Amino acid sequence: MSSLLQSGVRFRAYPDAGLASTLARWIGCQRSIYNGKVSEDRLFSAQRRLEIASGNVQVQTPLDQAYSHFKDRVLTPWLYEVPSQILRNGAVRWMGAKQRQLKKLGKAPRRRTRRDFNSVHVTAELFRFVQTDAGAAIELGTKADPVGTLPFLAHRPFAVPKSIVVRNVAGRWFVSFCYEHASNVILREPHELAYELNALDDATLAGITLGLDRNVTDNCVATSEGAQFHFDPVSVERMRRKEVGAKRYQRRMVRSQKGSANRRKLAARIARRRDYATRVRNDFAHQLTYRLVHSQARFFVLEDLKIRNMSRRPKAVKDAGTGKWLKNGASAKAELNRKILASCWGRIDVFLRYKAARQNKLVGKVPAPNTSRGCSRCGHIHADSRHGGRFICVRCGFTLHADHNAGINIRSRGIKALRDGAFSVGKPQKRIAFRRRNSRTTGGTPEVACGANVRPDPRLAA
Ligand SMILES: [Zn+2]
Repeated sequence: MSSLLQSGVRFRAYPDAGLASTLARWIGCQRSIYNGKVSEDRLFSAQRRLEIASGNVQVQTPLDQAYSHFKDRVLTPWLYEVPSQILRNGAVRWMGAKQRQLKKLGKAPRRRTRRDFNSVHVTAELFRFVQTDAGAAIELGTKADPVGTLPFLAHRPFAVPKSIVVRNVAGRWFVSFCYEHASNVILREPHELAYELNALDDATLAGITLGLDRNVTDNCVATSEGAQFHFDPVSVERMRRKEVGAKRYQRRMVRSQKGSANRRKLAARIARRRDYATRVRNDFAHQLTYRLVHSQARFFVLEDLKIRNMSRRPKAVKDAGTGKWLKNGASAKAELNRKILASCWGRIDVFLRYKAARQNKLVGKVPAPNTSRGCSRCGHIHADSRHGGRFICVRCGFTLHADHNAGINIRSRGIKALRDGAFSVGKPQKRIAFRRRNSRTTGGTPEVACGANVRPDPRLAA
């Protein structure tokens, strides 16, 4: 028995102006179909809720990849200008997202804009690999009606994929190939790994457990073994300068005329400068997680940080008497938010999880409160123990680097949670996708109430 793994490569692509314009049109049309399916599905679920509320439990609404009804000679003439496979793949992409929702692996698909849907999925009917004088290239379009040749820079060997994704990131084009292949090790589920780890004695378990403290203000990750990982100072300086440049272009952009070519060019320059920081963070997160999963450690413990909640804008505050708006600290919090989102917490979590899974290693999460205020030797929790970067316990005088101390606390919490069986249950990996309104009538714990009270989705059988 072996497990299927997915991997992929991404190469920089260089379309000429004509092909770039065609690709932009393909992307737009695929997104249009995707959004059409999202809106249609919302309408169906609204209908279904109404029917169920009026007592009709057997209500059925369609769940399919039909897209031809979005094509209209008058309303959407542009959809006739792209190959139908591009439109179909838009519906296929939506179905993939919908299936993830039905399997409770994600939220319902939502409407996308060019900010978060700037790629086109092209299947084998519409591309062929060709050799040009400059090297490998992809001919796009059907054999009978090719639309152009897309040169790309293959910086590493690749196999011919079944489908490709062409994407535009901040004005640069990329082409990615995705492959599925068998893994040579048998991959086990997280609860099986937790069971194996739980069988180890305390000393061995402590030796292979690594607590990770993600620090916002210094932008670093500290481990329970005292190691610290920072951004490379050269990249930090470059990021700062690119941000200065982006701000300058932004000031010019607000004065430029809306819809003008100049404004579009400025927007592209800003995006390119900001894209640098994205790539630096991705690179840091990839290198760090690679080093961690290839170390001796077999169990990684992270704080369970609610990044979405932490980086939310504070609520607007109104004076009850006068009706005037009061200060709510939003601008002060904006700086912290920027740091949270810049410190790639989320990325480290996601990358560590999938890389560890490939090595049969476990990633666990523990509650975050007081990890940086508690003493890792005597357990005493006090805010006064923190002196900037140092931790000095007010009770026992234990002294250590503050992040190192927090890392040790996180490791002990992780070991305790493992011993208590927190990771040993083979439960669905992600949150419940059903709406909470179902639990209101019955009471009890939300999960149980959801499972007991929700009628089976008639479309799941389809
Ligand atoms: Zn202490």
